[in-house]
Amino acid sequence: MQELLNYFIQTPTALYMAIGVLSLCIGSFLNVVIYRTPKMMENEWHEECQMLLHPEQAIIDEEKLSLSKPASTCPKCSKPIHWYQNVPVLSWLALRGKCGTCQNPISIRYPFVEILTAICSLTVVAVYGPTLQMVFGVLFTWILITLTFIDFDTQLLPDRFTLTLAAIGLAVNTFHLYTSPSSAIWGYIIGFLCLWIVYYLFKIVTGKEGMGYGDFKLLAALGAWMGPLLLPLVILLSSVVGAIIGIILLKIRKENQPFAFGPYIAIAGWIAFLWGEQIMKVYLGH
Ligand SMILES: [Zn+2]
Repeated sequence: MQELLNYFIQTPTALYMAIGVLSLCIGSFLNVVIYRTPKMMENEWHEECQMLLHPEQAIIDEEKLSLSKPASTCPKCSKPIHWYQNVPVLSWLALRGKCGTCQNPISIRYPFVEILTAICSLTVVAVYGPTLQMVFGVLFTWILITLTFIDFDTQLLPDRFTLTLAAIGLAVNTFHLYTSPSSAIWGYIIGFLCLWIVYYLFKIVTGKEGMGYGDFKLLAALGAWMGPLLLPLVILLSSVVGAIIGIILLKIRKENQPFAFGPYIAIAGWIAFLWGEQIMKVYLGH
């Protein structure tokens, strides 16, 4: 382990190459997670409702969808995708964005998520270098990418990711990795409460629900990673990110799609995680 670390300290290029290739492959896996998790959750809800409403009816025990099963297939012709057709980015380019069997177009979203995962992970490497902060920073990035795309697609921020993110943040900060343990705990509490209060005021004033509990849990998780002092910056940045992405989406798609707040919080949180202290210094002028 120490030898590997020394090697990466001496040859940063090797570190960039290793993280680059690894995160392209992880990006490919995140595509599966992003695509399947909402479907898996929907199946679970069906099952729970069935248990509640008609417990006497046996549940048909068909093969359950999971992250590893069944193997990936083309959504149109259902032909299995071979490993050599599943190499991140390269396969998509080699097949010119089409299924190798039925020529059905394969969304550019897949290579986009892979490249985005690699670029964001390499940015974390550039900021932290070969440290433990880099290792967990990369993990933080992968979970945020997953949450961003799931929320963008379905307006859901699954507990299995927001709560895991919070737990990892609290755990690593017991070792003072990014902030002190007490700051991490207060970050979690304040992160949850401040959006919860906004939510209730908004509900009282307008009678509508603008956000969901997933948003509070996500901000709480970000607070657990970086402490409460950076949370105002996260909220400020999320409105800037929201405005920019909102304008871009208005140009791209004409129809009015449901509005998800999570991606803006996630992107703002990632920026604040990497450069929050520098931004605060410039902003506060010292
Ligand atoms: Zn096909």
